[in-house]
Amino acid sequence: MNNIVSISIDGKEIKALKGENLVNVARDNGFHIPTLCYFKKLFPLATCRICTVNINGKNTTACTTKVDDGMEVKVNTDELLENRKAIIEMLFAEGNHFCPSCEKSGNCEMQNLGYIMGITHTRYPHLYREKPVDFTPHRMLMNSNRCILCKRCVEEIKTKDGKRVFSFVKRGNRTTVQIDYNEERKLTDNEAIHAMQICPVGAILVKGVSEGKPFGERKYDFLNKAIRPKLKRKKFELKEGEKFVVGTTSLAGCFGCHMSLLDIDEELLDMIEIVEFNKSPLTDIKRFSKRCHVGLIEGGCANEENVHVLRYFRENCDVLIAFGECAIMGGIPAMRNFVPLKETLEEAYLNGVTTVLGADVIPASEDIPKLLDKVYPINEVVDVDYYIPGCPPNAQHIWKVVKSILLNEEIPISHEEFKYD
Ligand code: SF4
Ligand code: SF4
Repeated sequence: MNNIVSISIDGKEIKALKGENLVNVARDNGFHIPTLCYFKKLFPLATCRICTVNINGKNTTACTTKVDDGMEVKVNTDELLENRKAIIEMLFAEGNHFCPSCEKSGNCEMQNLGYIMGITHTRYPHLYREKPVDFTPHRMLMNSNRCILCKRCVEEIKTKDGKRVFSFVKRGNRTTVQIDYNEERKLTDNEAIHAMQICPVGAILVKGVSEGKPFGERKYDFLNKAIRPKLKRKKFELKEGEKFVVGTTSLAGCFGCHMSLLDIDEELLDMIEIVEFNKSPLTDIKRFSKRCHVGLIEGGCANEENVHVLRYFRENCDVLIAFGECAIMGGIPAMRNFVPLKETLEEAYLNGVTTVLGADVIPASEDIPKLLDKVYPINEVVDVDYYIPGCPPNAQHIWKVVKSILLNEEIPISHEEFKYD
C-alpha cells in the first residue's frame, strides 16, 4: 500500500506520510505553524487555537489534522496571521502578564510568539482580574495570573501510579488549574522540574529552582530575525534650518525609559543634529512652547494629574508614542490593580511591614493628585499612534522608531532589541 500522499502548503507541493501530523509535516518542509498547547508527546489538545490554518477552504486547527492526499493548506494568509495575533493579544489582556518581573521571561513560548508577530501592545483592554497564586504545594507554586489553560500539565504530568497532579477547576472564564497536593508530593525533583519546563508560560514554578538566566543566555534572546512592527509614519515638512520637535514626559513610571533614551550613546550626536526637545524633563521646559512632531510617554495613568498631562501631550503632539511597559500595560504600578484602592492605601500607610508603628494617617490634601481606582495603560485614556515595548525599552529600539517616524523610513528592529522585559 502506498502511504505517501501529496499535499500543498502555501502553494508548495509536498510529499508526506499519510496520517502524519500537519504541524510536523509543515515544520519539516520549512513552514512554521505556531502553537502553544501542542507538545510532541501528547495527543493534540487544540486548546490554544493558534495553529489554525485553512484546509481546502475551511479554517481548522493544524495540530489535530492528519495529512491526507490532495490537501491544500494555507498557513500564512493575512486573515490567519491577523487571527493568530489577536489570540496572543487576548491572552496577554486576559491574564496578568508582567514580563519584567516574570521568572520565565526570555524562555517563555508565548512571549516569543509575541516577538515573532511584532506585537507591541494589545488592542483589547487589560482585565486585571485577581487570580490565585498557590504557594501551598510541597515543591511547586502555581501562578494562575500567567496560566493560558493550554492543558499540557494536566495531560502530561502524572505520578508513577498514573494519577493526575494538575486539573482544571471551575468553569468558563473562571477556569483555573489546581494542584493536587497529595499527588504532587509523590513527584520526584526531576518530574517537578519537567512540569515547570513543559508549561509554555511562567505559571508553574518549582520552589528554589529558577529558570532565570542573564540576558543573552535565555532561549529566545537571539533569533537573528528582524521584526517589522507596523509603524504609522508621517511625512513631516521642515523649513530650512528647522529641526524635528520632540516632547517627552514620565507619568506613573520610574524614569528608566528616559534613562534608556539617553543610552543611545554617540548617536545622541546624530539625534541633536535633527531633533530639538521641547517640553521634557530633559530640558525642564514645563509648558509646550511649540507643537511637537513626536511625543514620547513613559508610565501609565495612576492619578488625575497623569491623565491631565497625557491629554495635554495628545493635544500638542502629531504622533504620540507609548514607550515602556508601564505606558503600554500599566507595568509594575498596575500590580495594585487587583486590590481595592482603599486597601492599597491602608497597606501603604497604615498596615504595611515598613510603616511606622502607630501610623494612623493616609495623606490627603488638595495639592496631592487623587489616585485613580487603578493604573491605566495610556491607550485606554487617549489615542496612541505607536508603542515601544520593554522595561526599559532598548535604547536602539527607541531611537530607531523615533527616527523611522521622523524621517519616514522603514528601519527594522532586531530580535534582541525587541523585548517586553
Ligand atoms: S514571560 Fe511569559 S508568562 Fe511571564 S509574564 Fe511574560 S508572557 Fe507571561
Ligand atoms: S499551568 Fe502552564 S501548562 Fe498548565 S495549563 Fe496553565 S499554561 Fe498550560
